[in-house]
Amino acid sequence: MQKFKTGILFYHDHAGQGDVHQIIGEVSKSLTRFIDHLTIYRSAEQGEIYTYLKEGKSDFDIYLILGGDGTVHELINGIIDGNHHVPIGILPGGTFNDFTKTLNLHPNPVRAVEQLLTAEVKYYDVMQTNERYALNFAGMGLIVENSNSVNPDAKSKIGKFSYLFSTIKNVTNPTFFKYVIEIDGTRYHGASSMIVVANGAFVGGNKIPLIELSPNDGKLNVFIFKESGLKLFTEMIAMKSEINWNEISQNIEHYSGEKITINTNKEMDVDVDGEIDLETPLSIKVIPSKLKILTATDRVVINE
Ligand SMILES: [Mg+2]
Repeated sequence: MQKFKTGILFYHDHAGQGDVHQIIGEVSKSLTRFIDHLTIYRSAEQGEIYTYLKEGKSDFDIYLILGGDGTVHELINGIIDGNHHVPIGILPGGTFNDFTKTLNLHPNPVRAVEQLLTAEVKYYDVMQTNERYALNFAGMGLIVENSNSVNPDAKSKIGKFSYLFSTIKNVTNPTFFKYVIEIDGTRYHGASSMIVVANGAFVGGNKIPLIELSPNDGKLNVFIFKESGLKLFTEMIAMKSEINWNEISQNIEHYSGEKITINTNKEMDVDVDGEIDLETPLSIKVIPSKLKILTATDRVVINE
């Protein structure tokens, strides 16, 4: 077991998974087995963790977070902008925990923290999207329309199924936008209903059924959805199987690259790791092996 002298655990009070303070108590029990001095930081409002980390006032040997994708997004931006170069531990604590799936962690934080006891530090790529850093994805089009229309009730009902794919099924007339996209110097243009650039293998709670998607290969994957691409994509998700993307290439274009710029005919909102806070034009590049994150060595198999 890897040990750390000092560590800090951040969490938001509204992490969205039961009684957060009870969870904090339980996870602390496991954390103190490999961290001698553990500090617990309760964040009252969004942006607080980012500011704390960016100002770099204190140094710890490990930074931990209990939260969903939005909270993790805040942490990694603070870690990078504050020039911290120590390992990160992520404990799932929200509705969507895309990256903890990539880390092989159990969705229950109390189970996940036990996995950290034997976890190893692995390097992961980060996406730089305009002025933000992201771990999972950046997307525009339907992905934004859908997450905008999520109401809290619907979100809890669908549980681990994402807002994204559950609502896509019901979309009969998606709106199309015109784009010009440049990937490592090559230009493509056309009309699309959704463009997603992914780093991790999960978007909105679902695994993208592409076997070669890796969050540490120095490449990003671009998916451009054409006319009937959405229907095919949801069918693929439903089948939960690996599919040859060449077969459907006329409906979903797939490219991989390191540097991507996206221009759209009108200014569009961009969803970055579940936060809608950027707009097109969008410039994305991969920063290889930027973050060190505790990764479970045992893959958790969860029955859907
Ligand atoms: Mg990659």
